[in-house]
Amino acid sequence: MWKDCRKLQDELVSMRRELHRIPETGLHLPKTRKYVEDKLCEYGIPFTEDPEDSGLVAVIEGGRGPGKTIALRADMDALPVTEAVESDYRSEHEGKMHACGHDAHMAMLLGAAKVLNEHRDELKGRVKLFFQADEEEVIGARHLIEAGGMEGVDAVFGTHIGSIISKDIAPGKFIVVPGCIMASNDRFMIKVKGTGCHGSTPEKGVDPISIAAHIIVNLQEINAREVPAVKAAVITVGKLNAGFAYNVIPSEVEIEGTVRTLDDGVRKEIAGRIKEISELTAKTFRGEAECVIEWGVPPVENDEEMAAFAADCAREVLGEDMVITSVPSPNMGAEDFAEYLKLAPGAFMFLSSSNPEKKTDMPHHSPLFNIDEDVLWEGSAVFVNIAQRFLNQ
Ligand SMILES: [Zn+2]
Ligand SMILES: [Zn+2]
Repeated sequence: MWKDCRKLQDELVSMRRELHRIPETGLHLPKTRKYVEDKLCEYGIPFTEDPEDSGLVAVIEGGRGPGKTIALRADMDALPVTEAVESDYRSEHEGKMHACGHDAHMAMLLGAAKVLNEHRDELKGRVKLFFQADEEEVIGARHLIEAGGMEGVDAVFGTHIGSIISKDIAPGKFIVVPGCIMASNDRFMIKVKGTGCHGSTPEKGVDPISIAAHIIVNLQEINAREVPAVKAAVITVGKLNAGFAYNVIPSEVEIEGTVRTLDDGVRKEIAGRIKEISELTAKTFRGEAECVIEWGVPPVENDEEMAAFAADCAREVLGEDMVITSVPSPNMGAEDFAEYLKLAPGAFMFLSSSNPEKKTDMPHHSPLFNIDEDVLWEGSAVFVNIAQRFLNQ
């Protein structure tokens, strides 16, 4: 069945390029959704639209009777980046660009959908195709789940194209690693309250800038002295709003940052300590701090058995030496695919499209990001093989 995907290569390239021209960001992607829906209609695959955003779920019912349900996922959103790659399929939306490869994800999943649908009489059970909005702000998966997308799903798989794991992995190689492969991502917001006064008489007020400086330094103690050295974690303050004049002590300061971890326990522990340290540091210096944690996504945890199964399916398609099953370390970036993996076992895989000769080894989210399109059929073929073998085993 998967062999049909090779013949789709040209079609996949043209779909990817058509989608590349119309990048949209966030939850509402009207042109992108219309493009995907038109293709699904052309293939004769029914779908339901998410009521809250531009996501949609298509369903292929196997002709060999009831059985298991597998979900395959593509994300649809682009980034607020101005494209710097010169090509005849350049972004037509000023200030927006598919700089993470989600255009390729849609093309690969549409290709897989076409082949699976043509062979549906050979399948037991059902295939669900997730086209989700807003991965970049890690909320699209949650919407799709709230709309019932994961109901009845026995296993879930997704692929990210590009160079996320390493730009030095040859194009066309598949990376499927058991266990944790990407980090959690949560946001913290701390409001430090003092008492504003003249800069010449700090004793008449409470200086929130000085308190904020202590908080920022103290937060690094969590990593240095509290999280075990073998457990990776990052605490980054990325935003600090303080003051308005050189000689005035303001009454409030805002600190914002992100926490990345590879372990849910460490994640909860750090969030608790950020709250404590900011509140108590402020108190030490006569001020107050309010800390809000905005929970993002958990770490991406691939199921051991499903990752081994997916690697085996990829080997059958691509050959033994084209599949990588261990990497030196997980990636500290986050992916909302993690939300699906909390509800069903599965694997989040990577397909390298990093080719220095074609200048497709630029970092994700860069205005120069591009992919080696030759690998597109592989993404479809591996999805098809995983679905066929999972449903018919
Ligand atoms: Zn991205
Ligand atoms: Zn991405």
